[in-house]
Amino acid sequence: MNPFVYPKSKHSRRERPGQLARYQLYKPYLRREFAKKCVYCRLPDTMGPLEAFGVDHYRPKKKFPHLVTAYANLFYCCNPCNRRKGEDWPRPGEEGTEIVPNPCDHKMSKHLRFKRGTVESLSPPGAHTLRLLDLNDPKAVAYREFILATIGMWQEKLESAQRTARELRKKRRAPSLSAAEGGRIDSALSRLEHIEAECSAHLDRLAGGP
Ligand SMILES: [Zn+2]
Repeated sequence: MNPFVYPKSKHSRRERPGQLARYQLYKPYLRREFAKKCVYCRLPDTMGPLEAFGVDHYRPKKKFPHLVTAYANLFYCCNPCNRRKGEDWPRPGEEGTEIVPNPCDHKMSKHLRFKRGTVESLSPPGAHTLRLLDLNDPKAVAYREFILATIGMWQEKLESAQRTARELRKKRRAPSLSAAEGGRIDSALSRLEHIEAECSAHLDRLAGGP
C-alpha cells in the first residue's frame, strides 16, 4: 500500500497506443502504464488535480526532436519533477553518472530508496537525480509523510473492522444462537462491510493503486 517504494525490477511497457499526433495524447496511456504515479518521485496523482501531472520526455525534446512522440521515450511525471528535469541530458562521458534513471531501462531501487518520506541516493545517478529533481524539497517530504500517516490511519481502521468481523462470524456459527441475536450480528456485519469498503477506497486513492 505504500506508494513510496522504488521498483526492484525493470518495467516492461504494456500499453500499445500506436503512433499519435501529439505527445499530450499519450498521457492516459502513461497514467495506466505507470500506475498513476510520477516515475521519479513516486507521488500518486490521485490526491490532486490531474493537471499537476504530465508527459515527461526522457530524452529531452530539444536535443531529440525525432523522439517527441515516441511512446518509448515518454514517462508519467509530476509537474515539479518534469520542470526540474527540463532539458537535462548527460554530456559525452557522463552517461554513467550524470543521468536520471527511468523505470524501463534501470532498476530504480538500485539508485534511490525511501526512508519514510525522505529519498536517499544509492549510486551516482541516484545522487544526480536527487539533486536535479530536488527530491527532498521539504514540502514534498512533508506531503509524503502526511500521505503515509493517513494510509496508516486507514489501514488501522480496516484491520480493526476485519478483526471484529472475524469474531462476529465465529459467534454467528454458535449453535445456541437465537434468531434475534443472529439478526443483530448480521446487521453489525453488514455495517462492518461498509466500513471495510470505505477504508479500501481511501487506501486505493492514497496509494494510487498497485
Ligand atoms: Zn515527481
